[in-house]
Amino acid sequence: MVHFVGAGPGAADLITVRGKKLIEEADVIIYAGSLVNPELLKYAGSDAEIHDSSRLTLDEVIALMKKADSEGKTVVRLHTGDPSIYGAVREQMDILDSEKISYDSTPGVSSFCGAAAALNMEYTLPGISQSVIITRMEGRTPVPEGESVEALSSHGATMVFFLSAGDIDRLVNKLEAAGMSLDTPCAIVYKATWDDEKKFICTLDTLAQTAADNDIHKTALIIVGKTVAQTGYEKSKLYAPDFSTEYRPIKPSPDGGAHRPGDDGFARTEAERRRWPEGPDEGTCNKNIKSEPT
Ligand code: SAH
Repeated sequence: MVHFVGAGPGAADLITVRGKKLIEEADVIIYAGSLVNPELLKYAGSDAEIHDSSRLTLDEVIALMKKADSEGKTVVRLHTGDPSIYGAVREQMDILDSEKISYDSTPGVSSFCGAAAALNMEYTLPGISQSVIITRMEGRTPVPEGESVEALSSHGATMVFFLSAGDIDRLVNKLEAAGMSLDTPCAIVYKATWDDEKKFICTLDTLAQTAADNDIHKTALIIVGKTVAQTGYEKSKLYAPDFSTEYRPIKPSPDGGAHRPGDDGFARTEAERRRWPEGPDEGTCNKNIKSEPT
């Protein structure tokens, strides 16, 4: 049995409880030594066999898995962040399928969440952006044409660039060529959640210089978009007194106006449907309807 486990972004205590337990119980651990915090290996049993995959090819990783599995051993394949993001797990799983070796997956905290935590940032600010684009600039690995930096930047959404800190000048040029304003807020987070984390808020204009001045060329995320400023947003409907949810009735607001159940996509409960059968379809907005006792 092979367990693919997300190690989290860096800090050893950001692995999941399940991930830690799997490490404790593993006979063989294959970890991505380039980015996984080696401190996590302290959870391994004293007899566990440990391999750093940054020195291995795919075939060599699979050979270790096959050997362990044939001996009835349990393998943990420890990937940085969450394995589903640039984790190269599919190619391993496909070979395990063909070898009839079973496996499962345990998620991890991706570095883009670690970076948001480092900045105390919310990526999805109402009125600014409700989408996060997780992407990368093409390098040795190509990116499909429709996902070019230029194409994706046209949405105005919050963008998180992985694997792109090695050539920030090129990234900035692409964003600028796509029409992005040079005063667009940006952040760069190096080794989010590690002890030597570095984080900077800047603009598109100063991004490349900020990275150069602070010697950041890898293991960093670049966040681009108006949300980085964390200002000018609208308050959440979810906690607005004049907006009901499945869990909380409308609390009348001073002006007597109210959002009705179902506004902005929150599903109406059965009770709410009975109370107001002709209510709006989910996603419509009726701000000026008087609230009723609930
Ligand atoms: N699966 C990982 C991403 C692996 S790709 C995840 O979910 O986070 C490797 C890239 O992730 C790095 O080049 C860098 O851009 C980013 N990265 C990984 N860990 C990071 C960290 N702690 N801080 C900032 N960026 C990180």
